[in-house]
Amino acid sequence: MSNLPVTLADIEQAARRITGRVLRTPFVPSPSLSERCGVPVGLKLEHHQTTGSFKLRGATNAVLSLTPQERARGVVAASTGNHGRALAHAAKSEGAVATICMSRLVPDNKVSEIRRLGANVRIVGKSQDEAQVEVDRLVAEDGLVMVPPFDDRAVVAGQGTLGLEIVEAMQDVATVLVPLSGGGLAAGVAVAVKGRFPKTRVIGLTMERGAAMKASLDARRPVQVEEVASLADSLGGGIGLDNAVTFKMCRALLDGVILLSEDEIAAGMRHAYAEEREVIEGAGAVGIAALLSDRLSRLDGPVAVILSGRNVDMDLHRRVINGNADALQETAA
Ligand SMILES: *Cc1c(COP(=O)(O)O)cnc(C)c1O
Repeated sequence: MSNLPVTLADIEQAARRITGRVLRTPFVPSPSLSERCGVPVGLKLEHHQTTGSFKLRGATNAVLSLTPQERARGVVAASTGNHGRALAHAAKSEGAVATICMSRLVPDNKVSEIRRLGANVRIVGKSQDEAQVEVDRLVAEDGLVMVPPFDDRAVVAGQGTLGLEIVEAMQDVATVLVPLSGGGLAAGVAVAVKGRFPKTRVIGLTMERGAAMKASLDARRPVQVEEVASLADSLGGGIGLDNAVTFKMCRALLDGVILLSEDEIAAGMRHAYAEEREVIEGAGAVGIAALLSDRLSRLDGPVAVILSGRNVDMDLHRRVINGNADALQETAA
């Protein structure tokens, strides 16, 4: 594990750096899931994090890792989702300017939300790829510093602080269930958890369709997959064909990846709401979804489940809770 790009020491340093700037979120037992699974199940309520997801940990660690000169030049990213919110908030807290690039197709409410968090919003082109071209231009011509959503050592170390909090809250944890997309969260959490308890299993959870990390692990190299709409929209997107950090780490550290259907993800969101009284987005529900689906083979000890975010359109959430199988299609229409 010591030859990986991010070490336990990096994560411990990140934890010291971001303490007081991000919330230490609650870790609570789930009586209903514990009863169902026959082992203690604890929930890491990371959707209570400031800006609504764990992405604030990585973004804050990345901003705090900059030199004063870099910080003065400002940070930039192309993200309409949780990373954009997190970077906007982290930069503002540290007195830096964040520029978030997004395409013309991004809905107004997302644009105004990122503006409200204090970022400059730059609207360019018709796709996320074109927005990324603008990011590259701002880096090359204006000297802004790019903070990527996952494939970055400081970002992975920041996300790993969540793993430290889990092992401190559940000392006998046997299995940790982690939502998986680009793998920044899973890589960081796996280093932290296995660094403290080498025998603990770390399982990645993602959606059935469009799971780029799973396809890449199967192919033994980063590959592209077609993007498909999902209730777990925060898990969409590729891992980058030139992935430098997270692919290697997920390959070395994950004990398995489980794919979940849209119905299973919806069931996870419903369980979170009805039984745990928590509003979570699809990406945050995959851990609960996996426990409800019986797709996990042996559960031989306490399980920790990361609820990673809560930024879901509330009309969509209501339709999912009401059991509307076409909840997503209605949003798209
Ligand atoms: C980004 C995100 C994930 C996936 O994190 P990666 O580091 O890209 O694997 C999971 N859940 C939520 C809510 C997210 O915003």
